[in-house]
Amino acid sequence: MKAAILHAPLDLRYETVPVPAFSDGEILIRVRAALTCGTDQKAYLRGHPKIRIPGALGHEFSGEVAAAGRAVQNVRVGDRVACVHTAPCGECFFCGKRQPNLCETLTDRMAYGAYAEYIRIPEHVHRQNCLPLPPGLTHEAAALTEPLACCVYGMKQVNVREGETVLILGDGPVALMMVALARLRGAHSVAVAGRHKARLDVAAAAGAQRVFGEQSAASEILDFFRPRGPDVVLECVGNPDTWRLALSLVRPGGRILLFGGCPPGVEVPIDAGKIHYGHLAIYGTFHFTPVEVREALNLLESGSIPVYPLITARVPLSDIPRYFSADAPKDYLKVAFIP
Ligand SMILES: [Zn+2]
Ligand SMILES: [Zn+2]
Repeated sequence: MKAAILHAPLDLRYETVPVPAFSDGEILIRVRAALTCGTDQKAYLRGHPKIRIPGALGHEFSGEVAAAGRAVQNVRVGDRVACVHTAPCGECFFCGKRQPNLCETLTDRMAYGAYAEYIRIPEHVHRQNCLPLPPGLTHEAAALTEPLACCVYGMKQVNVREGETVLILGDGPVALMMVALARLRGAHSVAVAGRHKARLDVAAAAGAQRVFGEQSAASEILDFFRPRGPDVVLECVGNPDTWRLALSLVRPGGRILLFGGCPPGVEVPIDAGKIHYGHLAIYGTFHFTPVEVREALNLLESGSIPVYPLITARVPLSDIPRYFSADAPKDYLKVAFIP
């Protein structure tokens, strides 16, 4: 089969490799669409502790069951499925604490390698997180299930409520999905601050009442959320400066979701008094559970998430090295690779 194999950081090759072997409990999915994601970009640039090299990249995908081991009963060959790359074990400390998003073996037994014609899905993953594709939903849309599940889970942590005001920092795919989720929860005023004009236009089309570009001063943002600042700030960048900006803009008594992760080891100096006397609630968030996988797929089926503004290009998988190279087209949100 053809696949995009990462041989070393900055060395991604589209080449012929064997179709993955699968055991009695596993299945093989014929990938019909796989999306770009920041995680794969980071793995390409500097490697990733959980992603095998050499190995195929890609973890946001959808396709059809091409083959199933003898012991498999929950899916059949030919089923169109939405699938994510992980599932919890159900037995470890965190699964016991009902925090399966932190499952100790979550990333040890992943279905990684969706930038390929076929991907092998471990038994515990397809049993929990391989769902029939609703009729009418495209494979590209279904491939958004994984990143959307992350957003749904993060949104539950910070729990935006009806009538609240929300500031979203960042204009990438996550930020734009958060706009739609905040609006669905009945947020009263949603504003997005970002750096890319085209993406901010998408944010406005997705329901943001106001967008702030690179030239906007913090005072302009605060003026929009007068008199006190936004009830909730969603940080969707992953940068120490933006984390601090979130803290400086949220109103006293407000809540912050730190969705964007900073690189390992980064420390962020913060105003302790602002958190303590300002009674701020700050939430981290990681991944999702099988519950959010279902919720995300339902949201996509309902049409309440603007899919095609997020997927800005649809190209053959053979184009992949170009999209990961230094001369990749600028300003795309997500690209769908079609193997
Ligand atoms: Zn992703
Ligand atoms: Zn576990």
